[in-house]
Amino acid sequence: MADRMLQFVRLPQQTPEKRAVAERQVDFDEIYRDFDPPKAAAQASRCSQCGVPFCQVHCPLNNNIPDWLKLTAEGRLEEAYEVSAATNTFPEICGRICPQDRLCEGNCVIEKGFNSVTIGAVERFVTDTAFERGWVKPPKPRHELGLSVGIIGAGPGGLAAAEQLRKLGYEVHVYDRHDRVGGLLIYGIPGFKLEKDIVIRRRLWLEEAGIVFHLDADVGRTVSLADLRERHDAVLIATGVYKARDIGGVGSGLPGIVPALRYLTTSNRQGLGDQVPEFDSGELNAAGKNVVVIGGGDTAMDCVRTAVRQGAKSVKCLYRRDKLNMPGSMREVKNAEEEGVEFVWLSGPEAFLGDTTVTAVRATRMHLGLPDASGRQSVEPMEGSHFTIPADLVIKALGFDPEDLPTAFGNPALTVSRWGTLKVDHKTFMTSLPGVFAAGDIVRGASLVVWAIRDGRDAAAQMHAWMKHNAAVAVAAE
Ligand SMILES: Cc1cc2nc3c(=O)[nH]c(=O)nc-3n(C[C@H](O)[C@H](O)[C@H](O)COP(=O)(O)OP(=O)(O)OC[C@H]3O[C@@H](n4cnc5c(N)ncnc54)[C@H](O)[C@@H]3O)c2cc1C
Ligand code: SF4
Repeated sequence: MADRMLQFVRLPQQTPEKRAVAERQVDFDEIYRDFDPPKAAAQASRCSQCGVPFCQVHCPLNNNIPDWLKLTAEGRLEEAYEVSAATNTFPEICGRICPQDRLCEGNCVIEKGFNSVTIGAVERFVTDTAFERGWVKPPKPRHELGLSVGIIGAGPGGLAAAEQLRKLGYEVHVYDRHDRVGGLLIYGIPGFKLEKDIVIRRRLWLEEAGIVFHLDADVGRTVSLADLRERHDAVLIATGVYKARDIGGVGSGLPGIVPALRYLTTSNRQGLGDQVPEFDSGELNAAGKNVVVIGGGDTAMDCVRTAVRQGAKSVKCLYRRDKLNMPGSMREVKNAEEEGVEFVWLSGPEAFLGDTTVTAVRATRMHLGLPDASGRQSVEPMEGSHFTIPADLVIKALGFDPEDLPTAFGNPALTVSRWGTLKVDHKTFMTSLPGVFAAGDIVRGASLVVWAIRDGRDAAAQMHAWMKHNAAVAVAAE
């Protein structure tokens, strides 16, 4: 091993090559090219195989990273894939869109001084190779259990649970109000971070495993939670969080001011080949416009970069804190800067100007004050510091809250936290309704794909334990 690993002292860190800015600004393809096998093996060999792998500790899935890096360095790619897939339902997706700088790579012990191992890029390479070579088999149970589960939400949380439960032998039905599988993976996150073929490939894999998708099934409207509880032995709610946080102030209702997810969904649908009237009419198309995006998270970064690709005249990101305090991944901020996005730090909107449609944003400079109860520095406006930015399209990317599920599902007994997220027993993942479990953003609040996968897998294990126990009780009572 010693001659193959620990190469960080000799080999510099290399990420997969990024496409040139001029090339990537005009399409929605992923910006990183693929690693070739020698490059992946060389980068994997930089791992120091340290005694306490902090990368693994800080990966929400506790992926066995040092082992699959070593196997990759040795060219044993099928085994590397097996190890990686043992803890992660969608390694090629996490490899592409996890904020590795805050998770595994940010905690790699060689980071200080040598720059971390490019864990995400190797993870993506291993599973993409496994798909190409036919090693990725659909999960097939050894025997059918004769029990069925209903999962509400075909996002990463619901899909990860579906895969685990199908493997155990349950009949699995997934209900989603959208017409495609993937949740935010398909309609939120743009193709330049995660190409849609990658998501569709997983849908086919889950269908091959026998998982049944019921699309255009809006639970609470076209089908009720009560029906699903009747139909299935257990139900999982994995509906994510979709109520966009809003901003008030003078002119905030003007046409031309739109919520981020509506803008991104339109763009994704258009890329998938759908007829999208709001895009064709120009309402949700940034071409030729001065665009201002308000917010500093992942969603804001996806909006600014989408606007660049649609051919906006100018794209500005207005954020009330500074660069250091941005909640989004630094890698994405850097990509946006390279693509020509202008960041207006320490600035917040005060009013939206225009008669029949928005024409400008009046903003105020901010300064950071003392930390509040959460430890985050407060933001205070600076007297008399107004300035105006021309804008034909303003996109609000201020974050998301949960929808009111007890009302939407017609069941007030479904209890929620004071933030509106579903309350679950954190050991069993069960909500206040017996046999109804919950996982992902609807429990955690807006979070990350990798956490939704983790929660979906853990919830599936708890549902299995509960159903096994209930089935045994039922048999004993016969
Ligand atoms: C624009 C954007 C960019 C992001 N970028 C990243 C990133 O780069 N990296 C990262 O790790 N995370 C990112 N995230 C966060 C990540 O997408 C979420 O944390 C993750 O998708 C949550 O998974 P989930 O399964 O809980 O919910 P979702 O992915 O939201 O899926 C929920 C599903 O439930 C369905 N649903 C909701 N209500 C109902 C109902 N009543 N009936 C039937 N179906 C219903 C929805 O249609 C949806 O398909 C981003 C989020 C956004 C908005
Ligand atoms: S799942 Fe995410 S955090 Fe875990 S190893 Fe992969 S890229 Fe890193």
